[in-house]
Amino acid sequence: MKDKYILSIDQGTTSSRVVVLDYKANLVKIYSHHFEQIHKHNAVLQDANVIFNGVKSILDQAIHDFKKENIIAIGITNQRETTVIFNREGNPLDYSISWQSKHTQEICDSWKTLGYEPYIKETTGLELNAYFSASKMVHFLNMPKLKPYLLNNDALFGTMDTYLLYRLTDGHAFYTDITNASRTMLLDIHSGTYDEKLLSLFNIPKHMLPEVKPNQYDFGSYQGIPIKAMIGDQQSALFGHLAFQKGNMKVTYGTGAFILMNTGLEAFKSNTGLITTIAYQLDNQIYYAIEGSIFVAGSSVKWLRDKLEVIQTSAESESLAKQSKKRMYFVPAFVGLGAPYWDTKVRGSMFGITEDVTKHDIIKATLDAIAYQVKDVVDVMIKESKTPLESVYIDGGASDNNYLMQFQSDLLRCPLIKPKETEITALGAGFMAGLGGLYKDIDYIKSNQSIIKTFKPMSSYKTSVELHSGWKKAVKSAQTFK
Ligand code: ADP
Repeated sequence: MKDKYILSIDQGTTSSRVVVLDYKANLVKIYSHHFEQIHKHNAVLQDANVIFNGVKSILDQAIHDFKKENIIAIGITNQRETTVIFNREGNPLDYSISWQSKHTQEICDSWKTLGYEPYIKETTGLELNAYFSASKMVHFLNMPKLKPYLLNNDALFGTMDTYLLYRLTDGHAFYTDITNASRTMLLDIHSGTYDEKLLSLFNIPKHMLPEVKPNQYDFGSYQGIPIKAMIGDQQSALFGHLAFQKGNMKVTYGTGAFILMNTGLEAFKSNTGLITTIAYQLDNQIYYAIEGSIFVAGSSVKWLRDKLEVIQTSAESESLAKQSKKRMYFVPAFVGLGAPYWDTKVRGSMFGITEDVTKHDIIKATLDAIAYQVKDVVDVMIKESKTPLESVYIDGGASDNNYLMQFQSDLLRCPLIKPKETEITALGAGFMAGLGGLYKDIDYIKSNQSIIKTFKPMSSYKTSVELHSGWKKAVKSAQTFK
């Protein structure tokens, strides 16, 4: 068993990775491929061909290095909601629409006017928002240039899991997993099947959609290696943290920030715009989570680096923020605000700027904003679920920022737990692909994982409350400028 491996494909918003896990479920190697999103007018698009070719090249390299006969299974995790339209040959028919793109909001607005909102919330657990796949699909269906493909029944929809699987299996497997499906705004999360009424309200032909499967399934094979698991990235991170208990919470600080609380068998209903989502399905049992997402988190640090050019690397933001002497606020609502505000029209603003403000203060305010937004969501989760917060599992690129994580712990007033492994999202899909095979059970996986760091609150409670109330004022002010 010592020379046996699991490969996990983690297809993210700006990069794809292939992670190699050994027989102890420990990470032994990472391969990565970066790509650029395409910004056109107000749309955020991706080239699915570029993404697939990138994935294929690093996957082939990993298979070459670790030898095909030693690879037991492949798992796939992916950026969710991003929607691809492709023909039966697997060629994309247009750019894919990124989860970050809000340009299909008008379609959502029309659905709102038609009164669909309560039914959508009740059935899918989601807010009516352009973030989810349904309005992106309808946008494609309305494109005149795609008409011939639609008429010829030669157009298929998929999120990235489906698209990669379709291409890796040469068109033999047209499946999605239940967590990705739960983000399309087409799935009845109680039954785990597409909702016929929604499909007919939106005019989305069912034959264009992939079949929904549990997270562990014989999805197909690539070069003879079975593809055993598929799961959306945030759910994969929850699984990767081994956060299986009801009340367990994880925050992933990537391009966006994603907060999931495991609610077990209960499809928890929120009244304040948090969404109910499927955490995972093993065998026939569906487990649920509540989720809050922040559209702009690590990407605001990238903005400091690439657009303002006040830092050279994302990591540098930590030492520069520590040099800040002033308190100011930055609401980085580049693409609106997610939970609990759900305000797509608000845009970014800075508050409290004086002549002596330096780049250090702006950098600190940018990092602080990530923590404040997470705090807003967590507060609502605790209040609504009536579940006390004990600790939070953290991961994602920006969780490497010690200043940010300490500030987050101060705001949340609870410990943050950082596992030794950094690629938690990839780990989740890898664990799942190996579970019951290379990894005999969950306890075996658990016994081989470890924690690298715990952040505990250090500031006073009073200070953290004061700072947070200043942030809330800033958000309110930002929302008035439209
Ligand atoms: P994704 O998977 O969403 O593409 P990652 O988890 O790789 O994102 O995280 C990358 C994001 O985190 C980038 O937006 C980057 O700017 C930010 N980031 C990475 N390292 C740091 C750091 N040390 N401090 C702050 N932000 C960081």
